[in-house]
Amino acid sequence: MFFLIFSGTVFVLLTNVQRMVDTTERIVSKNKKVAELAEILQASLLDMDANSKKFNLLKKKRYYELFEKSQNNFESALQQAVLLSGLSENSNSPWRQLEDSYQLHSSNFPPIESAPEIGFEWVADHILAEWLENISRAKKQNQQEIELALRELNEASRISARNGLLSFCASILVGLIGVWYISRAIFSPLKTLTGRLRGISFDTPQEPIRLRGGDEFNELANAFNDMSRQLNEEETIRAEFIATLSHEIRTPLSSIHESVNMIVEEVFGSINDKQRKFLEIASVEIKRITKLLNYLLNVGVLEIDARKANSFHLNTESVVINSAELFSATAEKKKVTLKMDNFHDCPQLFGVREEIQQVFVNIIGNAIKYSPEEGKVTLSWERDKERKFLLFHVADAGPGIADDERSLIFTKYYRTKNVRGHLDGVGLGLAISRRIVTSYGGHIEVANNSGQGCTFSFSLPTHPLTTSSSV
Ligand code: ADP
Repeated sequence: MFFLIFSGTVFVLLTNVQRMVDTTERIVSKNKKVAELAEILQASLLDMDANSKKFNLLKKKRYYELFEKSQNNFESALQQAVLLSGLSENSNSPWRQLEDSYQLHSSNFPPIESAPEIGFEWVADHILAEWLENISRAKKQNQQEIELALRELNEASRISARNGLLSFCASILVGLIGVWYISRAIFSPLKTLTGRLRGISFDTPQEPIRLRGGDEFNELANAFNDMSRQLNEEETIRAEFIATLSHEIRTPLSSIHESVNMIVEEVFGSINDKQRKFLEIASVEIKRITKLLNYLLNVGVLEIDARKANSFHLNTESVVINSAELFSATAEKKKVTLKMDNFHDCPQLFGVREEIQQVFVNIIGNAIKYSPEEGKVTLSWERDKERKFLLFHVADAGPGIADDERSLIFTKYYRTKNVRGHLDGVGLGLAISRRIVTSYGGHIEVANNSGQGCTFSFSLPTHPLTTSSSV
């Protein structure tokens, strides 16, 4: 469409330009020439008149020669003028009248050889005046023709300019609509695809997609659907494996719990305070893991109603302290110090205690685990602008995270290359944390510190959310 309008515009403009060129050519080649010839005719007539009079008076042959020269000029100019004006058929035309009248009288002008010594009879004054009048009329007519042609030229250029402008606007409009249509046709399926790809990176199971916009997009959709089907299948196998594993761990865990409790209760003999302290920590930790396993097994996908029933306002400071305490033994061993900024002033959080605590446990646990000996872990918080979320920052002085791995650490089972060989972990903590945080409408991210280590930042709600999703 754009091409058609554009070509049409160019064609119309070219035709108009051609018309203008024709008109200007006509003015230059015909009317200008006719005007010049009229001048020559006038001048030659006056010369003929003057020389004939001088010859008749002085009888000098030279004047007759001059007369004859002017006569030749006159005749040739008259012939050209009649031919150029193309009006030789019209008997009313001044050129035709001049030519007829001149031919009638020119027979009286004898050639030089036979020039009578006594003189010859030149045309009467009123005939000369009539001829001059004819030339003036012809000049005037020619001038009118020029003016008419110029007016035509002006009209043609005005029409061309207007048509050109209209077609230009139409081309731009059609071009813009075309660009809008094409970009919509391309960007809309791409947007769908981007959304789905993002969903995959957030571990959300993906439904098959259909992309409108031609065969290429169909192929893309098929490739995406194949990939997502494969990922879903792998995810199911992995989930089943984890469920079996969790189930298998629960039984030995409860006997470990029992044994620890019996030692704490001094069934097998007395224990000192330090032993009691660490055994109690072990007992709390076992309880937490058991709870978590139950949680993972029973509510792998927490229904909204179940979450609603279990959501409460939580004392943030106690949640953070409880989470941090779980790592006090490790921290003590590595001489890592944990600094908490102003948590006694911190507003309450809202949610399922186990879920919220799980996020703190994972992030604080990692910060301590990846901290060097005598490192420092700092916990701080701030409110978001709308006061609906609290934003927590956990900074450590560990190895930090390479730029190309930063987005990967939140995917399940991903562990950075530098820790794979020598540090414990399965690469699930951050994936679980992200699922919990995003299900509460918050977000989680990590950035490397300017000096050493990195800072994990995540937001959690202070009030019930209007919309909720499943973990
Ligand atoms: P893991 O059990 O391996 O700690 P996570 O999901 O908690 O699993 O973490 C994923 C990976 O992210 C870790 O294996 C580690 O490579 C990296 N990581 C997490 N926290 C930190 C941290 N504070 N400093 C450096 N790397 C970290």
